[in-house]
Amino acid sequence: MRSNLVIVYHRQPYEEVEVNGKIEYHENKSPNGIVPTLKSFFGRFEKGAWIAWKYADDPANPDFERVVEIEDTYGKYNVSRLPLTREQVSSFYHVTSKEAFWPILHGFKERYNYDPVDWSTFREVNWAFAEAAAAEAAEGAVVWVHDYNLWLVPAYLRRLRPDVKISFFHHTPFPSADIFNVLPWRKEILESLLACDVVGFHIPRYVNNFVSAARSLLEVSTKTREKVKDELKAETSALSEQSVITEVSYQGRTIRLQASPVGVDVDYIESLANSEETATKLAEIRETLGDRQLILSVGRTDYTKGGIEQLESYERLLESRPDLRGKVQLMHVSVMANANMTAYQQIQHDLETLAGKINGRFGSFDWQPLVLISRPVPFKELVAYYRAADVAWITPLADGMNLVCKEYCAARTDGDGVLVLSEFAGAAVEFASAVPTNPFSWKSMDSAIQYALEMPEDERRGRMELARQIVRKQDIRYWAEDQMMALDLPTMPDTRDA
Ligand code: UDP
Repeated sequence: MRSNLVIVYHRQPYEEVEVNGKIEYHENKSPNGIVPTLKSFFGRFEKGAWIAWKYADDPANPDFERVVEIEDTYGKYNVSRLPLTREQVSSFYHVTSKEAFWPILHGFKERYNYDPVDWSTFREVNWAFAEAAAAEAAEGAVVWVHDYNLWLVPAYLRRLRPDVKISFFHHTPFPSADIFNVLPWRKEILESLLACDVVGFHIPRYVNNFVSAARSLLEVSTKTREKVKDELKAETSALSEQSVITEVSYQGRTIRLQASPVGVDVDYIESLANSEETATKLAEIRETLGDRQLILSVGRTDYTKGGIEQLESYERLLESRPDLRGKVQLMHVSVMANANMTAYQQIQHDLETLAGKINGRFGSFDWQPLVLISRPVPFKELVAYYRAADVAWITPLADGMNLVCKEYCAARTDGDGVLVLSEFAGAAVEFASAVPTNPFSWKSMDSAIQYALEMPEDERRGRMELARQIVRKQDIRYWAEDQMMALDLPTMPDTRDA
C-alpha cells in the first residue's frame, strides 16, 4: 500500500542504535526538534512514508536495506533510505548546501563559495529524493519537502507525479532578490519552488523576499495578500496574526505562499521546567552562582549565530563596568559543528581564543567570567539553565527563526527572566516584549545587555508574561495546523483554551 503523506527530510527520523550486533531504530532522544512534530502528522493519514539519505559505501550492495518499516508512538510508517556515498553527501550537503546556499540564505555574500560546487551531483541527489517520493506516494498524496538542500525536488516530482500535492517549508531565512540572485542556479531553483502547491516560510518578510526574487526573474503575478487572507478567514478562524498568505500565479498554476513561525512544545518544556529533576539541578546551579547574575547564550557554532560579536560585547562590558566584575557570569553554549569545514573550524578557533582572552584578562581564583561549552548540552539540563539564567542573550546576525529564545520563555514558568534578542532572528517579529539588539552595532549590543542586567523586577515580569503568551499561543501545534490549512486538509480541533 502506498502512502497518503510522504515527508521528504534529509535526516532519518530516528537514531540507529546497535544492540547485540543488530541495528535497532530508537526514537530521537531530543524531543525539542522538528522531527517528532513532523512524525505526529502521520497519525492524521491512513499511511505515511519518510524519505531520507543514509551513508552507503557501495550503493549497489544488495544487503543495503532500502526501505524499513517503523512502528513507534507515531504509528507505523515506511522510511525509504537513499544510499549515498560519502562523496555524494560531501558534494550535495557540505559543499553545495553549506558553502553556497547557506551563506546566501543568511545574507553573507562574501562567504559564498562557488568554485567547489558540483551542480550535477546536487541535481542527481535531488532527483533520487524525488524518485523515492514518487514511488511511495499514493494517488493524490501530500508530499511535504523540507529545506533548501532539497530545492530541486518539487520540479522533478511534479514531472514524475503531476497528481500529488507538494508543500515545501523553508527552515531558514529567504534573502532579498539582490542576494538570492547571486546563485547561478537561481532560475532553476525558483521554478522548482513554483512547481509546489504551497511554499512555507517562517515570517512575512521571507515571503516578500521570495516574491521579489521571483518577480525579478520570472513572469509571475501575485494576488493581494489581504484578499486571500480574508477568504481564508472565512474558511477557518485558526489563522494566526503573523500568518500571511500570498498567492503567486506562474505558467497557469497557482502557488500559495505562507508565513507561519515554527514554535516549540510548550507543554513539554513546562513539564520539564516544573519537574523535581530540574528543581534539584536548579538548586545546584544557584548554589554555585551565589549572588552572581547568570547570562546564558545557546546555539551552534556558526558564523550566522553572532558568537564572536557577543563575546566582544561581553569583554567591553567587563572593561567599562568594573563594578560588574565578579558579579556576572556568561555561560556561552556553542555546539561545535560536525562538518569538517574550514569556516566552522575558524569560528570555533576564534571563539576559544576570545574566551581564553576574556578569562585571562578578568578572571580571578574565585571567579570565571565566561564558561564556553562546545559539546551539546542535553535538553533536560538546558532547561535547568534556562530556569537559572537571569538573562538569555541571543544575538544571531541572521537566523530563520531561533527556537532557543522560545524555549527560554516557555521554561520560565516562574515568570521571571529577561530575553535580549537580535533583531535579525525571525522570532523577533513575534517578541515585541524582548529587549531588542542589533549585533552589527557595538552601541546597541552594549546598551541592551546592561539594560537587561539592571532591569527592575516588575518590568522583567511584565515583559516575560507577554513573551510567554506569544510562545504559548504560537506553539508547535499551531504551526502544524497552519501547514494543514494551507493544503486545505482537515485541521485538528484546537483544545488549548478548553
Ligand atoms: N540545543 C540543545 N543542546 C545544546 C544546544 C542547542 O538541545 O547544547 C537545541 C536547542 O534546545 C534548540 C536547538 O538545539 O532546540 C537549536 O535550534 P535553533 O532554532 O535555536 O537553532 P538552529 O540550530 O536550528 O539554527
